[in-house]
Amino acid sequence: MTGPILRAQGLTKDFRGFRAVDGVDLDVTEGSVHALVGPNGAGKTTLFHLFTGFLKPSAGRITLGERDLTGKSPERVARLGMARSFQITSLFAQLTPREHLELALAGGSGITWRFWRSDKALGAYSERALELLDQVGLAGHADVPAGSLAYGRKRALELALALALDPRVLLLDEPTAGMGVEDIDRTMSLIERVRAGRTVVMVEHNMSVVSALADRVTVLQSGRVLVEGPYEEIRHDERVISAYLGD
Ligand code: ADP
Repeated sequence: MTGPILRAQGLTKDFRGFRAVDGVDLDVTEGSVHALVGPNGAGKTTLFHLFTGFLKPSAGRITLGERDLTGKSPERVARLGMARSFQITSLFAQLTPREHLELALAGGSGITWRFWRSDKALGAYSERALELLDQVGLAGHADVPAGSLAYGRKRALELALALALDPRVLLLDEPTAGMGVEDIDRTMSLIERVRAGRTVVMVEHNMSVVSALADRVTVLQSGRVLVEGPYEEIRHDERVISAYLGD
């Protein structure tokens, strides 16, 4: 691990006078898994939207390595090396996982939907698509409609779609939300596997997942950083305990 790859400085977001993110300073070390936790309404999702360019900050700066990402579009942010896992709601029920991946890989090369079916060169993407599906444990489900996949497998497909962009920083929004024990275990080993050579920032409510995977944890409350440190340190912090108890 080296210096910070992702850095937020004084990051602030106002929604019509309501400050959802309030002067957040955050350094994410290259090669680490960094968890963002905090009670509902703490600003975690808004922070993710700011990182990916879906929302523009009201104030502050975001940098990825040497590059200033502040105010850049989601496409530009993805091209510069930071991607978030897709949402299940953006999957196409009729398309297979292999087709989703081909589309994502081809999209990254500027081939549009219109050309997709006719482009003979897509054979190259097919191979890479299968590699990615294999990486997330979906090789055996490459050719079934995505709509028929079980919940945990849909989430694995989302992750594969983010990996198709080969990001230096991978953002995961509640990767284990709504999962049973088996899927949680599978997802944890998957994250362990895909973190190699990357940095992972994740919003995660499940503290056993955080304690198992995260090198550092930032606790947010009311849009501000409450505490930051390794899980073993922050878990005993009085401020964290009372934030979770709603004090
Ligand atoms: P978390 O993900 O930690 O639960 P959010 O980032 O979703 O928190 O929300 C932080 C606060 O900002 C909440 O009080 C929420 O109601 C508010 N908020 C989020 N998005 C908007 C929006 N588009 N317009 C107004 N308020 C918003």
